[in-house]
Amino acid sequence: MNICTRYKCDTCDTLIDCRIGFSNRDVQPFQFACPECGEQITFTLGLDNLEGATEIKEFEGPFTGENPFVDLHLDFPVSFDSYKQGETAFMRVVSSIGQDSFYHLSSRLDLLNRLGEHHRSLKRLISQYKRGNIKGFEKVIKGLDDLDFIKLKSHKNEDVVAALYSATSVISSPLTIYEHNKELSEEMPKLLFKLYNEHYDNLNEFFDSLLNTGFLKTVHHDTISLYPRLIKLELPLRPALYYDYAEEELGDVPARVSTQSFDTCNDTYKDLAEVYSRQLVLVAGLNNMIHRGDFNLFSDDVRLSKKKGDVIKAFSSLDDYANVDLGKKLTAIDDSFFKFDENAIDNRLRNGIAHYKHDYNEATQIITYSSAKEGLTRDKTVEISFMTFLRKMLLLFREVHSLNHVIKALLYHTILILKKDI
Ligand SMILES: [Zn+2]
Repeated sequence: MNICTRYKCDTCDTLIDCRIGFSNRDVQPFQFACPECGEQITFTLGLDNLEGATEIKEFEGPFTGENPFVDLHLDFPVSFDSYKQGETAFMRVVSSIGQDSFYHLSSRLDLLNRLGEHHRSLKRLISQYKRGNIKGFEKVIKGLDDLDFIKLKSHKNEDVVAALYSATSVISSPLTIYEHNKELSEEMPKLLFKLYNEHYDNLNEFFDSLLNTGFLKTVHHDTISLYPRLIKLELPLRPALYYDYAEEELGDVPARVSTQSFDTCNDTYKDLAEVYSRQLVLVAGLNNMIHRGDFNLFSDDVRLSKKKGDVIKAFSSLDDYANVDLGKKLTAIDDSFFKFDENAIDNRLRNGIAHYKHDYNEATQIITYSSAKEGLTRDKTVEISFMTFLRKMLLLFREVHSLNHVIKALLYHTILILKKDI
């Protein structure tokens, strides 16, 4: 269902024609910028909390095209185009991806609703686990009955980890592609078993270094902390899910997000990239062991300088590698057992947001950032749409989630094979 209404911007008096599509959600908070002056206008469907504009109550429609038009829908991307009667976001999505995909997408959006409602409990679930308060952790799980997390069989480490991973799997399921994770989840124990047989001493040394430094624990804790944060952003992420089904290339057609702006999301993106960068240390160590039997030994192509042939410090051990920046980390992993999604990794964007000035235009939903690298004198300006940014965030989260399966396998190995505490 849709409603059409007319607003008058409180800042510049511009009349704005607005079509609002209903989603299957209890609370529907919208946000958009006045197309004329860029000031923020917000309201929640069904509540009397409109800010930034005044509704013209006597408007009877239909729209005539004389005013700027804003199409809004929480679940789908909407266009910046002019008003066309009947061409609603819902109709466009169904005709573009078909009924079957639409039902699949709807079921993911429904689960996101439920997870979103439990956001605070999910946050507590993770924080209780991190504190090692198993009673508290168990209590939170019991309180989340409708989410089908598995219950704790006992307070033994392996049962706690199983319950935790059941939770992160449910939390991530509407945001991820299930098949890919399943494959890795099955391959990892086999891979570790192979290394256990073929490189027993080196594998033990690898685990010693991960456990003695606390690295495995901190990277695990930082990884699981991201799950409730992504759920907190379920509103802006919703329309980005559509592109899992759509043929259309993102970016050709700028698409609007009908809620919350870039500012609420960029810290989470930075932290995703940060955690991902540290997860790569685990991939590199395992990959080195697979190819050369030594987790510290990078391929000669990577670790030896082209000119003199001596060992480059940054790639002389896994410990040194940990300090290298994300882009260099990726290229140093040769013939990786973990298949990276190159679309997910945008080091330029990460650097642009983390280290350089960036601007966000609320009216056009365009992010502008600098892609300058250290040592370069001239900045290059890059523009991406907020929707593209959200899509990148979603893909990066999928990578982080996939690598969480690597962490899971390492934790189980620690508990069950090495009989050590995590
Ligand atoms: Zn205005």
